[in-house]
This record gives sequence, C-alpha cells and structure tokens, in this order.
Amino acid sequence: MKGDHFLISTLAILAFATFLASAYDPSPLQDFCVAVKDIKSGVFVNGKFCKDPKLANANDFFFSGLQNPRNTKNPVGSNVTAVNVDNLEGLNTLGISLARIDFAPNGLNPPHTHPRATEGLIHFQLNVGHVNAVAFAGLSSQNPGVITIANAVFGSKPPINPDVLTKAFQVDNKVVDYLQKQFWYDNN
Ligand code: MN
Repeated sequence: MKGDHFLISTLAILAFATFLASAYDPSPLQDFCVAVKDIKSGVFVNGKFCKDPKLANANDFFFSGLQNPRNTKNPVGSNVTAVNVDNLEGLNTLGISLARIDFAPNGLNPPHTHPRATEGLIHFQLNVGHVNAVAFAGLSSQNPGVITIANAVFGSKPPINPDVLTKAFQVDNKVVDYLQKQFWYDNN
C-alpha cells in the first residue's frame, strides 16, 4: 500500500515535470516586444511591421527572376543577388534567407562575414557561351548582413588609422597607403 502511494506520487511528479518541459514560450525573435493594449499602435517583429495574418497571400512568399544570370562585369567578377526580408516580405520572423551568386570566369566573391547568420552554399556550373558559374546560398537569418573584409578594413570612411593597419598587417606603410587609395567595389 505504501509502495502504491510512492508510485502514484512519483508518477504525479513526473507528469508535472513533463507538463513543464513541453509548455514554454517560443524563443524570443526580437530584443523588445512590449505589449500594447491599443492594437492600432501596431506590431513590429524583427524590425518589420507585421501584416494581419488573415491578409497574407502567396505573393508575400514569392520572388521572381532568381533563375536569370546577373551581370558580372565588375572588378571582382561576381554579383550577389540577396533575397532577404527587404525584398521578400514573407521571410519576416522565419529566420532564413538566400542569395544567388554569379561568377564570371576567374571571378570571386571576396572574403566576407555575415554578422547575423551562418551560410551554406550549393555550387553549379553553367555554359553560356563562355563558362560562368552560379552558386546558391542559404543563410540562417532573414537579414544576415554582410561585411566584406577588404572593403571594411581598407575602404572604411572615415579610414582606419594607417599606423594601426601597418602594424596589424605587418607590412610597409606604403602598402597600406596603396590599399587605402583603391576603390573597393561592393558586389552585394
Ligand atoms: Mn556569404
């Protein structure tokens, strides 16, 4: 009898613990979302105003033309077409975005980071007279951001103190001077 009582108590505690483990709020998607009583004040989630879900339609999740090759005639020989919450509104709060990257022969996408995302790439080759290549990237943010390293380091305005760069890159200050005078093309 005492054993039964113990078993029932244990099951009750376990059931309670299970209840606690399976009921929780979704992870916060924004830094602040202060509740308001007046719905006319509007709702911004992840920096965007949310459309009434009842008015959402297929076009909110549709982006056309991503199959078309882009112009790669530029100093780095590549062109990044980003599809993120700014041009595909349905991505808001979904935590994903994508990009098409076109490469000219010998072109490259300069080293860069995405401050709010990690990135996965699928790479294809296409024949369009001469050989061009295309890659598609998936990113783990609706708005990943991009910092192109060379542009940020040598093309920033105002410029980074050349003495700092000379020491950091351990080169002659003429090299830093040369690099800071370049035009840093942005392929994004
Ligand atoms: Mn990238």
